[in-house]
Amino acid sequence: MTAPLLFDPQPQPVVPVEGETGAYPVHRVFCVGRNYVEHAREMGVEVDREAPFYFLKPATAIVVAPGEIPYPPGTSNFHYELELVVALGAPAFRISRDEALDAVFGYAVGLDMTRRDLQLEARAKQRPWDTGKAVEQSAVIGPIVRAADFDVGDQALTLTVNAEGRQSARLSDLVWSVPELIAHLSTLYHLDAGDLIYTGTPAGVGPVVPGDAILGRIDGLPDVALGITAAE
Ligand code: MN
Repeated sequence: MTAPLLFDPQPQPVVPVEGETGAYPVHRVFCVGRNYVEHAREMGVEVDREAPFYFLKPATAIVVAPGEIPYPPGTSNFHYELELVVALGAPAFRISRDEALDAVFGYAVGLDMTRRDLQLEARAKQRPWDTGKAVEQSAVIGPIVRAADFDVGDQALTLTVNAEGRQSARLSDLVWSVPELIAHLSTLYHLDAGDLIYTGTPAGVGPVVPGDAILGRIDGLPDVALGITAAE
């Protein structure tokens, strides 16, 4: 017999699927660091060509766009990062690059919202990035498009804040490709359906303040609109 739960569990985070009624339940949120050369440079570091590296956000950080989030506590330098998100739909453990795309359910536009001041302080002190990255309501995502309807190529990624251009790049600028990321992550984790991979951001990251309106776009995927409201 299963023990009765002592209180209601937190709700299962889900993401809508474009053109469908079924929702995609999120298991884990993996994020890739330094996956565009020009972004690594603007952060004052170089891309590590040996292997990609990762950090995680809790699944409860998922926010479905379009939406709004309050300016978070503990920061005065809250940044947007526009990213391609890969949504897995099947198990993958020690999967080859050639087979990696078989595990992909679909793709979406995401924003890896970041308390940059806390991340950089942690980096300087050789501490974990959690307080900078695993921020409440920081894993923003739009509807998922099934893999049959989207192939990763050289599509444009663009991000505006209040209709002013801030980020502009192409998916072909990714240092580590989607199959390479899945294959490498699958050497470290038993990947499975519900796992999201935020594949890293191009150059042009910057701060937002309450009242700002962010619009993230990748050609072929639904746009992501996010408003920043007053701090609590
Ligand atoms: Mn990121």
